[in-house]
Amino acid sequence: MGYVLTQEGFSDAISQLRKTYRIFAPVRKKGAGRFTDVDAILYDEVNGSEEIELHEKSDYSAKEVLTPLSETLFYFTEGVCKEADLDTRPVLLFLRSCDLQAMKRQDQIYLANGMEKDFFYQRRRELVHYVLIGCSHSFENCFCVDMKANVSEDGYAFSVDEADGMYRINVLDEGLDAVFSAAATSKEEVVPAHVTQNEVHVRVPETIPAEIMKHPLWDEYTTRCIGCGRCNFVCPTCTCFTMQDVYYSDNGRVGERRRVGSSCMVDGYSNVAGGGQYRKTQGERMRFKVLHKILDFRKRFGYDMCVGCGRCDDVCGEYISYSNIINKVADAVDAMEKEGR
Ligand code: SF4
Ligand code: SF4
Repeated sequence: MGYVLTQEGFSDAISQLRKTYRIFAPVRKKGAGRFTDVDAILYDEVNGSEEIELHEKSDYSAKEVLTPLSETLFYFTEGVCKEADLDTRPVLLFLRSCDLQAMKRQDQIYLANGMEKDFFYQRRRELVHYVLIGCSHSFENCFCVDMKANVSEDGYAFSVDEADGMYRINVLDEGLDAVFSAAATSKEEVVPAHVTQNEVHVRVPETIPAEIMKHPLWDEYTTRCIGCGRCNFVCPTCTCFTMQDVYYSDNGRVGERRRVGSSCMVDGYSNVAGGGQYRKTQGERMRFKVLHKILDFRKRFGYDMCVGCGRCDDVCGEYISYSNIINKVADAVDAMEKEGR
């Protein structure tokens, strides 16, 4: 069912929803950006509709609500282990189509990648309902259309599109109809806005021969990439983490275990026992990251991991463009095919 709300009506609906749900959304953080006086758009819990940033792409992704950068999993003493408490109120999470598609990748890895589901992810995931923010235009560096993540027809509780102070809402969760019906000025069919064109285009090859591993295209990243890992931390589809035990006592028998976000681009990520290191150079690490997102994940699950949000390009201080790399891979594959390899 579709509803049209004024700003006041939308504010009333959000206030009503907050009686049941915690609401997380992109929020403008004044001066928290990369440079002085630059704002950042980050995810946070909101207290009212006026805090929700509906018009800009967030710098970090919605995944942080489900997989916080640092999360205490459990506490231990000498004889007892206790799971960390979790606020069990249901959550509404505002996000764009690419990020909603990215959440399906998160579910794939944490819930359907092997015999076990990730307990700590699952207990959060069961609380979360998505709110789709319509995209009336493409943002800088987005290539969601070519990655087929620009449209989401289901998987959300309701959508929101704001234009000229009016809010158009498409409600898929019938349990929420009453809230919007009471706050609306009218009912009409609403289709969430989505982009059909991006300025940035990528060509993802159907098949990528194994020879790509030895291709010289990766070499330039050994000198250009500084291994900061920011591209991974902003990525809505990256899932890697590491474990940290924090001890409260000198004997190491009392403390907590944390799950902390990690990155395949940083030093130490591929270290193994005995001093080995699988990927020593930044070029090798870039190769791993790129091929994981457009080759290996697809081989295992049948679809690409990357959703084309462009955040990795937005954030890289070395101006390394991931979409450019995909196209370089496509050119290299074309050349190999011509050479009959
Ligand atoms: S690899 Fe880059 S463009 Fe693709 S989903 Fe991750 S951050 Fe977005
Ligand atoms: S590609 Fe850019 S953001 Fe990613 S690790 Fe290298 S320098 Fe950092």
